[in-house]
Amino acid sequence: MRIEIVTIGDELLLGFTIDTNAAQLARALAAVGVEIVHRTTVGDNPGDIAGAVKAALDRTGAVITTGGLGPTSDDMTKASIAAIFGKRMIRDEAIVAALRERWARYRRLGPFPESNIAQAMIPEGATIIPNAHGSAPGIWLADEAGRWVAMLPGVPREMRGMLTDELLPRITQRMSADGSGAPTVVRSRTLRTTGVAESALADQLGDLASGVDGLALAFLPGVDSVDLRVTSRGLAADAADAALERAVVKLRGAVGRFVFGEESADLAEIVLKSCRRRGIRLSVAESCTGGLLGARLTAVPGSSDVFVGGVIAYDNSIKRDWLEVSQDALEEHGAVSEEVAVAMAKSIRARMRTDIGISITGVAGPGGGTASKPVGMVWVALDGISSEARCLRLFGTREEVRQRAAQAALDMLRRALETS
Ligand code: AMP
Ligand code: MG
Repeated sequence: MRIEIVTIGDELLLGFTIDTNAAQLARALAAVGVEIVHRTTVGDNPGDIAGAVKAALDRTGAVITTGGLGPTSDDMTKASIAAIFGKRMIRDEAIVAALRERWARYRRLGPFPESNIAQAMIPEGATIIPNAHGSAPGIWLADEAGRWVAMLPGVPREMRGMLTDELLPRITQRMSADGSGAPTVVRSRTLRTTGVAESALADQLGDLASGVDGLALAFLPGVDSVDLRVTSRGLAADAADAALERAVVKLRGAVGRFVFGEESADLAEIVLKSCRRRGIRLSVAESCTGGLLGARLTAVPGSSDVFVGGVIAYDNSIKRDWLEVSQDALEEHGAVSEEVAVAMAKSIRARMRTDIGISITGVAGPGGGTASKPVGMVWVALDGISSEARCLRLFGTREEVRQRAAQAALDMLRRALETS
């Protein structure tokens, strides 16, 4: 089954409220095999609401709206949609009674506000979708051709409750009744990559970049990673899982060691696990990341059996006096150099008596760059199971450079653990 979503509210268009309803609807519906094919957002304006819903009905014939069901003058969803169906608005006495009862139960202060009656106005011939989580009921409106609109409230908690309690059962029932694929599901698998740009990843994937065996492939770039999400639509659960597994194997084959995990895997957690298995302990010496690497590691519960500690060697005097990086190296090569990065990693490993020491030193920006050492140049070094140093050329804001540098250090460690 194919459905469209129309979310309604000026606050969504202005960007004051993030449209979480559309995302939650899409995820919940995908899980039962419904495909969301189009999503629209409009303001609290009857003409725009009617226009968006009419277009969705003409295209797809099945629409869920959220928002604009409340008692105030900016709540115009029901009347706007009733007009498309050529229905009058009538007062539903059962809703009026329920509203009065609810008022008496929860709000004993003052008389029943007559503005609440607006919530009891429904399009003639509509079905009421009960709201056990708030006062505004939802509305189900269909025409002779079987086209339908389900109107849900905007408050996310109410929307979710009604979706689970009322709407999903209705939709799955319709799907099995009209044979439009009750047994099919929409399912995804995600591969997480790091250390490779989205465009380079697409090149490396070649033909797979435009889809794997007919499954859609999405590139989802983040600050320090690019996720590859492959999605199966229109298959039954078992077939979908098998197709996704084959696709994941192909993608892993093409992308190779850039993949560090699946679904919501965290690189720090993966590295810690791998160290723990082998009884390896870690320490860090950080300059431009100012503790970010240590923060990534300690954010993972139970990290203390692997991560020992570190030093933020920000000023050169700390690199020299505390980490015993030679004054010569600092003067000759500068703080952002292979020599200094290597010396920092060796020293922290020795001083903290760990199996591995990792260091980061670089130019985070926005100032401080030179022709030979531009903003974004970062050295990371590892001393331990293998000894290596890498020069990274990172781009972005100060915060992005720092985040990417910490991730690159973790990734260097991941790769070293994989090959040693
Ligand atoms: P409404 O039903 O339009 O009166 O919306 C009530 C409240 O729900 C709004 O003030 C928003 O805070 C919230 N809301 C409405 N639409 C959405 C949406 N699509 N996603 C998240 N929150 C929403
Ligand atoms: Mg609203």
